[in-house]
Amino acid sequence: MTSLKDIRSQFLEFFADRGHTVVPSAPLVPQNDPTLMFVNAGMVPFKNIFTGAETRDYVRAASSQKCVRAGGKHNDLDNVGYTARHHTFFEMLGNFSFGDYFKEEAIDAAWTLVHKNFGLSADRLTVTIYHTDDTAFDLWRKISGLPDERIIRIATNDNFWAMGDTGPCGPCSEIFYDHGEHIPGGPPGSPDEDGDRFVEIWNLVFMQFEKHAGGDQINLPKPSIDTGMGLERIAAVLQGVHDNYDVDLFKTLIDASVELTGRKSEGADAPAHRVIADHLRATSFLIADGVAPSNEGRGYVLRRIMRRAMRYAHGLGARDPLLTRLAPLLVDEMGAAFPELGRAQKLIVETLRSEEEKFRGLLDRGLKLLDAETAKLADDEALPGDAAFKLYDTYGFPLDLTQDALRREGRLVDVAGFDAAMQAQRAAARAAWAGSGDDTADESVWFDLRTEHGATEFLGYIHDEAEGV
Ligand code: ATP
Ligand code: MG
Ligand code: MG
Ligand code: MG
Repeated sequence: MTSLKDIRSQFLEFFADRGHTVVPSAPLVPQNDPTLMFVNAGMVPFKNIFTGAETRDYVRAASSQKCVRAGGKHNDLDNVGYTARHHTFFEMLGNFSFGDYFKEEAIDAAWTLVHKNFGLSADRLTVTIYHTDDTAFDLWRKISGLPDERIIRIATNDNFWAMGDTGPCGPCSEIFYDHGEHIPGGPPGSPDEDGDRFVEIWNLVFMQFEKHAGGDQINLPKPSIDTGMGLERIAAVLQGVHDNYDVDLFKTLIDASVELTGRKSEGADAPAHRVIADHLRATSFLIADGVAPSNEGRGYVLRRIMRRAMRYAHGLGARDPLLTRLAPLLVDEMGAAFPELGRAQKLIVETLRSEEEKFRGLLDRGLKLLDAETAKLADDEALPGDAAFKLYDTYGFPLDLTQDALRREGRLVDVAGFDAAMQAQRAAARAAWAGSGDDTADESVWFDLRTEHGATEFLGYIHDEAEGV
């Protein structure tokens, strides 16, 4: 069986042989971009090279980059547990050309690696291109020999990438693997493309334009390449399984979770084990990269991830801190590839223990309150905003945890009502301060800042976050 570790090194060696400098993964907390919560794509650490603000002594690079997608434009938190292909933490394999090679070499490399080296049958592969990108269409036809109907033209932004409102941008091409007719889902571009039958394994971005502030788009004199392939997704394919959570590492973690809880990973319990394995990994890597749980910013995203896992662990009947007990296994499994995990093991375990102990009692009582509140409602009635706010304020339930808890019964939360309750509490807090002395000017600045941070937190960081691949 090809392990995650083998696939990672095969990818990097393949591109090293093609003249790429292998660059180690950057930490999850972006070093060059304060607007971005976490590194969410392989290109993020190279952003300044793509814009020309920085140069390096190489023009082609390859990496396996740690990524977290649990907020902002890329928020896969709620997908975890329910799709075969999403994680909150994953590794993105990528090759990059900084004004060096372009479409032809990028497509040739991708096809050679997946078809010849990894041995994926052409019958199982479908690619998409941006609808106007005839060059990419012709290159795919020439290089892969795929029939025209499996080079699908897509007109949406899914196949047009932009770094932000200005800066480099260009068409994309995505490679999909067909896991077979027995799995629900349609080909890319079809109405049921969100199913898990055709799984996107690799995204190639052709940065050929630059957008200017007025909206003009000019041709870049030296176009660039940015690609991203999910390590766990290609591992599933190469290990002959459909689901990322059946890959070696996840099987090991899920088996341990089954053993400790005595609950099989079947039916309604399956998502819980998947959530626990995934969120344990995201949590451990975030702590190892210096994020500490808190009520704001990055620390709050971490706390939301942890608490979501704790709620599922509670649902499995776990009353001892389950994540704390699973953490050493994760470090055993991934510590060789990521020494930072071993170095932070004690911190990871102690942070998890303290968070699990702190939240346990609140969770129990909060879930009881939630049951009592929903018992009063009609089947299709949303949970009132003030109940969701009480769960947040008194029991430490992030809004998305409450929403997720109600998901099984198909019940929604009145989010506008929640926001209103939040605003009312803040206004009251501000008013309380207003009468408290001469230093009120400074304090109101503090409250305004809190409001701003709060607003972005609860709406899921909708501020203009720069996007990766
Ligand atoms: P999807 O449409 O399946 O959500 P995406 O288009 O959002 O994927 P990209 O932003 O193109 O993904 O990221 C590049 C690659 O990284 C994808 O082709 C996929 O292989 C992998 N990837 C993206 N999101 C995840 C995730 N949440 N978990 C695991 N792998 C992912
Ligand atoms: Mg996505
Ligand atoms: Mg996609
Ligand atoms: Mg994509």
